[in-house]
Amino acid sequence: MSNKVTHLAGLLSNELRQWLLDNRWPGFRSQQLFHWVQNRAVTSLTEASNLPQDLRAWLDEYAVFPSVSLRHYQSSQDGTKKYLFTLEDDQTVETVMIPDAQRTTVCVSTQVGCAMGCTFCATGQMGFRRHLNPAEIISQVLYIQSSQQASPVTHVVFMGMGEPLANYEASLKALHLLHDPKGMNISYRRMTVSTCGLVPEIQKLALEKLPITLAVSLHAPDDKRRSTIMPINERYPLAELLPVCRAYADDTSRRLTFEYALVRGFNDSTMDARQLAQQIADIHCHVNLIPVNPVNENYHAPSVPDVDMFLRALTRCGVQASIRRERGADIDGACGQLRQREEGES
Ligand code: SAH
Ligand code: SF4
Repeated sequence: MSNKVTHLAGLLSNELRQWLLDNRWPGFRSQQLFHWVQNRAVTSLTEASNLPQDLRAWLDEYAVFPSVSLRHYQSSQDGTKKYLFTLEDDQTVETVMIPDAQRTTVCVSTQVGCAMGCTFCATGQMGFRRHLNPAEIISQVLYIQSSQQASPVTHVVFMGMGEPLANYEASLKALHLLHDPKGMNISYRRMTVSTCGLVPEIQKLALEKLPITLAVSLHAPDDKRRSTIMPINERYPLAELLPVCRAYADDTSRRLTFEYALVRGFNDSTMDARQLAQQIADIHCHVNLIPVNPVNENYHAPSVPDVDMFLRALTRCGVQASIRRERGADIDGACGQLRQREEGES
């Protein structure tokens, strides 16, 4: 009959239809099934009373979903919730849910670990384990959607563990699944993909012409300093990365985001702000300033007045910028930290 399909949540509606047809089920059942999985976000089909019993029994045998299960959960005083999910092979990833007045944002992981080795990042320090497949990326949102009675997920940011553009095809498919109007129906405009600056993949993404937001992690105003904290800068230095960012913003007509983690005494002076402003002067962009979340004793966030001073210096140079309010500070806020503690990794 069929091979075992383990990733129902990772099938686009046309793929789901084809899979049912291939297995001699009527094609129209795919719409009902897609609705239960992607829109109702159920974690079992026992409620799916519009599906015939024989199809449900068959699905029990040949389909697996969702692709994550909860291992640990933390709730912050500010409403931020952090989930540690176990995957089928017992690897774990983190997902964060950030509620706000008007929005509910989910921050998803795209890889177990990360190969990029940024020195300030807990995920980077654990190295690369494996890519997540689209179902595993999507299931993080589905799980939270299903466990949250009141407010539906409105925004998704690919800013959890891993480098989404190093797992390009799976991340792209996840964007499409999140967007499907018969599924979660999240507008592309409410999705953000964050990258450490993989130049060829940024160029490829520009060709997709999706109105998502691209966020590029910059974190330093010159190559020398960027290379010390982000090894990827050796491969794609600023002279290559910034023109590609400029072209991305021009080609997609979307404002780009630059992320800049402020580290005390390293990249936080007013001179650094001016140098940064010069580097990005003609790019349609917004700078997100993030006081670094200290994952070890080498990194400390600047004081609040110093962060404000940096912001003012940038703004005076005509750069649009804001400080990203720290959320979930009491629950191991930075990506990779909850996992690090649970698994006892350094
Ligand atoms: N790999 C992608 C997306 C995941 S990291 C990227 O690097 O962009 C999401 C964001 O968190 C990135 O901007 C990353 O630089 C930032 N980040 C990681 N560790 C951090 C820390 N300890 N403090 C502040 N920001 C951090
Ligand atoms: Fe990977 Fe992003 Fe962490 Fe760098 S900051 S190690 S690219 S997850």
